Amino acid sequence: MYNKESLKATEFISDEEIRETLKYADENKDNLALVSEIIEKAKLRKGLSHREASVLLACDDKEKVKEMYALAEQIKKDFYGNRIVMFAPLYLSNYCVNGCLYCPYHLKNKSIPRKKLTQEEIKKEVIALQDMGHKRLAIESGEDPVNNPIEYILESIKTIYSIKHKNGAIRRVNVNIAATTVENYKKLKDVGIGTYILFQETYDKKEYEYLHPTGPKHNYDYHTEAMDRAMEGGIDDVGIGVLFGLDKYRYEFAGLLMHAEHLEAVHGVGPHTISVPRVKPANDIDPNDFDNSLSAEMFCKIAALIRIAVPYTGMIISTRETPEVREKIIRLGVSQISGGSRTSVGGYAEEERPHETEQFDVSDNRTLDEVVNWLMTAGYIPSFCTACYRQGRTGDRFMSLCKSGQIQNCCHPNALMTLKEYLIDYASPETRKIGEELIDREIDNIGKPELRPKVREELLKIEKGTRDLYF
Ligand code: SAM
Repeated sequence: MYNKESLKATEFISDEEIRETLKYADENKDNLALVSEIIEKAKLRKGLSHREASVLLACDDKEKVKEMYALAEQIKKDFYGNRIVMFAPLYLSNYCVNGCLYCPYHLKNKSIPRKKLTQEEIKKEVIALQDMGHKRLAIESGEDPVNNPIEYILESIKTIYSIKHKNGAIRRVNVNIAATTVENYKKLKDVGIGTYILFQETYDKKEYEYLHPTGPKHNYDYHTEAMDRAMEGGIDDVGIGVLFGLDKYRYEFAGLLMHAEHLEAVHGVGPHTISVPRVKPANDIDPNDFDNSLSAEMFCKIAALIRIAVPYTGMIISTRETPEVREKIIRLGVSQISGGSRTSVGGYAEEERPHETEQFDVSDNRTLDEVVNWLMTAGYIPSFCTACYRQGRTGDRFMSLCKSGQIQNCCHPNALMTLKEYLIDYASPETRKIGEELIDREIDNIGKPELRPKVREELLKIEKGTRDLYF
């Protein structure tokens, strides 16, 4: 039975409820009066239920779809302005005991070398990432209690935070590791992680069990209930996502929103971020083996509807997508992107992009400088801000600041100040020129006019060598 407040995976992600939702969406996709009513409700910027959003996803009336896109763009502008937060993934280890059919790190794949970074090697990676200008990382690791125990992950996080090379620093480490215990989540909280990220891959239990035939990840309930344990362990910023292309996207979309509704209902705070990865070719992996591939157009519609359905939740897109898709989807609602990424274990310290241990093919191969330049030319402010969790603005505190719109008073200035640091310390001359002009223009767009002189002062301090200033 469906119950969003239940702590049982099969009750808060009820298969029956999803199937009924899809049926309801099919029956109503041409009911334009209902579609208009839902769009009007979405304009209140308080979100939509999984049923309402599923009707919009099913509706293919051209005019209505146009309205959905326009609303997503507007909500994106209202809540996130033109800022895009930058991050990079850091792969610690590809040892893995799971049998995930879509992932090259699966246990049976004997054609890739296995590698786990030593603390010395992590230092090299982090220095390379700092030298690119990154301040925020998402660490990634396979699941292997012997090779990558929680102690290894914790030690690695401490190492990452400890490295201060030139003006560089990693100020926020988000963590994407397998589902674990409340006790381990507490330990992650204690070493100061930002967001705990775990993709559901698919919300369909049967499909999930088929795609994860062996290893601890086979346990659907344990995996699906992970965010509840993370919250119980004190981590109040969690990031969810599905791996699009594995199973039917309409099912996943409803499941994703039900998961968000569940977290909000039980813990009083929804997910901090939603990621929208799509399955990619990799060693031993052919995405054509999954016949649920998603067109770029439908992918963009999903992103737009996530933006409308959960306006306060950040949305993340990785370099799995091409620059063209990234450009479109950023406009429709994405707030965080990776740049200059390498998805192999030890990839950043190498001159040439290594492919051997790559988790997936990167479709956006540009350097961070090129991505920053591209974003600014398109009118966005690349932000290297990490202030929120350092100022205690996490979980429901963050959400209430978001909902009242007050968060903008911090985000906009912080974006400009961290961009300024980036331009001085790491940018190419051309990127720096574009960036300095952008900052000049954007100071006048700071919502609270009385903040503008203060921000100018801070920018001057950065010019003179001070670092890590934030509101
Ligand atoms: N091992 C952890 C787990 O199982 O949750 C997390 C780390 S894993 C490196 C991060 C994510 O990469 C997975 O959750 C999955 O969604 C994604 N991934 C795996 N294989 C992929 C592929 N072939 N293409 C795109 N993404 C993939």
